[in-house]
Amino acid sequence: MTEERFEALLQENRLFQPPESFQAQANVQSSEIYDMARADRLGFWAKQSERITWFEPWTQVLDWQPPFAQWFVGGKLNAAYNCLDRHVEGWRRNKAAIIFEGEPGDSRVLTYQDLHREVSQFANVLKSLGVHKGDRVTIYLPMIPEAAIAMLACARIGAPHSVVFGGFSAESLRDRINDAEAKVLITSDGSFRRGSVVQLKANADTALKGANSVEHVVVVKRTGIEVAMTAGRDVWYHEVMQDVSSVCPAEPMDAEDMLYILYTSGTTGKPKGVVHTTGGYMVGVASTHQMIFDIKEEDVYWCTADVGWVTGHSYIVYGPLANGSTVVMYEGSPDYPAKDRFWQVIEKYKVSILYTAPTAIRTFMKWGPKYPQSRDLSSLRLLGTVGEPINPEAWMWYYKYIGAERCPIVDTWWQTETGMIMMTPLPGVTPLKPGSCTVPFPGVEVEILDRAGQPVPKGSGGYLTVSQPWPAMLRTVYRDPDRYANTYFSNWPGIYFTGDGAKWDEEGYFWVLGRVDDVINVSGHRIGTMEVESALVDHPMVAEAACIGKNHEVKGQAVAAFVTLKEGVEVRDDLIDELKAHVAKKIGALARPDDIFFTAELPKTRSGKIMRRLLRDIAEGRALGDTTTLADASVVNSLKERYKEEG
Ligand code: ATP
Ligand code: MG
Repeated sequence: MTEERFEALLQENRLFQPPESFQAQANVQSSEIYDMARADRLGFWAKQSERITWFEPWTQVLDWQPPFAQWFVGGKLNAAYNCLDRHVEGWRRNKAAIIFEGEPGDSRVLTYQDLHREVSQFANVLKSLGVHKGDRVTIYLPMIPEAAIAMLACARIGAPHSVVFGGFSAESLRDRINDAEAKVLITSDGSFRRGSVVQLKANADTALKGANSVEHVVVVKRTGIEVAMTAGRDVWYHEVMQDVSSVCPAEPMDAEDMLYILYTSGTTGKPKGVVHTTGGYMVGVASTHQMIFDIKEEDVYWCTADVGWVTGHSYIVYGPLANGSTVVMYEGSPDYPAKDRFWQVIEKYKVSILYTAPTAIRTFMKWGPKYPQSRDLSSLRLLGTVGEPINPEAWMWYYKYIGAERCPIVDTWWQTETGMIMMTPLPGVTPLKPGSCTVPFPGVEVEILDRAGQPVPKGSGGYLTVSQPWPAMLRTVYRDPDRYANTYFSNWPGIYFTGDGAKWDEEGYFWVLGRVDDVINVSGHRIGTMEVESALVDHPMVAEAACIGKNHEVKGQAVAAFVTLKEGVEVRDDLIDELKAHVAKKIGALARPDDIFFTAELPKTRSGKIMRRLLRDIAEGRALGDTTTLADASVVNSLKERYKEEG
């Protein structure tokens, strides 16, 4: 394979048309939008910029000096103003902005007016703590409204935030504080997780030994546990918020001023500090959110991601609030106090749009349909997924048991770096194929290239790239423009490389095959992990699978699979052979795994993505690579032990 294309093995012929009733009411009802955007891409984005309130208009849509882009040049705006003030001026002031559901079952509703007041007050608090425009603030909080309040307060005064997921360790927090040189840290006493308390403040204190840029720590009281407060440095949120003015004008920011830094999930290696700016980002997230989620005033929209990930930034905070939507925010885990918690939340708030991750869906599949079946999910009208390729069988399960075969599913492909959704169906327009993220969003130019930079023909696979800049794209890696240029733009000049492999089928539908780093090379055939894993998940007993390439004397690499079975399934002696045969039958003998290893859990990042590079280390008996973003170290340790004995 000199052109280094990727094999396209999986055939998926099921097609789901948008229901007529859905199409008739959809925000986008016709595919003309694609033609319009193709004919005049910058005109399309200029039009989308009208969704945003600008203090001063921009003068140029795009200034592209590869690999550096500036969008909406000269425009002035404020992200928090767009999420709050303009709604408070009109009837939305008493609309629910955030409906919060705590893990213990407490709940809180903040109207747009409430949120505007708290954000303005907290912005004044930050100012009083010495935070100026341009200073960085690190946020290390659970999924509570104060996380959104803190982000918006930073945006209001022009202080870029760096949100660090509350599940990260002290060391990971320290690295991220130091990289950003944050002046203030916002955290909480603790957070609830499966009924117990995670000691966030104690972690923060450990992190701060060796993070000297931080002058003040603001602590939100969430759990009521006893915590140490360092005099002169630490203050309680509820105390400093007392008697603070709720008047704080939103700082006019340049379109290209930094809105935030966010570190990637670290699935493939050391996290990168991705920089997003204000104007293009807000245009990108507001327009994608409105069209892809078909958002209406009366919708109750729930994105289950954590605000610590880009999905939480773009599709819990900035996109939905810019659109004046009602957002559900849930603090806890899906299995507390019972495995029906998500479905209970949907029933309670009559959630109409649910946006979650394949890892969650596969877990629900593993638990079985009885949990969603015990709740009323009839309020749902649209479903979404993000984070990993969704295996067709997991898609079908979601479609059937959660969406009752009534709700379109938007499978959205994007990255921390892209800031906004890049490939996705438009739910009133695009026929769906389970496992495919369908087509690029209007105004987004995606291409699959071979090593030489030639687009691969339909029906084959290669490197997934974006050939034209888009408004919400990352602008750089924080303080490391060389790493930005090398990581994303060094393969083909001026073309953004995503790190993912993909194929497109005869009808031009895109299928993400997995990370190129994870591609398995069997006798010169390059196989994406997604297709082999999907073939395994297609077997009725399998809930989840992770495939890797293991060194092989003859073939170069052989497929090895780590498989999690559905709950209650008995491991028969012949199951391994049956699964191998199933893969061979489904996608071809080439992809037949040499080894299958059963495991109750797979190693995942804290954002829930499978870390195949650690499985490769285990299978080849190497020392483990960077494990700082791993969710549960005991999973790899026990796998390593067992693999040594049995593997
Ligand atoms: P790092 O870049 O540090 O390894 P990461 O790539 O896991 O971390 P994210 O930016 O959170 O960090 O993840 C983006 C990646 O997630 C994409 O590149 C892709 O591999 C995967 N992904 C996200 N959504 C989808 C989707 N709908 N279909 C297929 N893959 C997806
Ligand atoms: Mg990545």
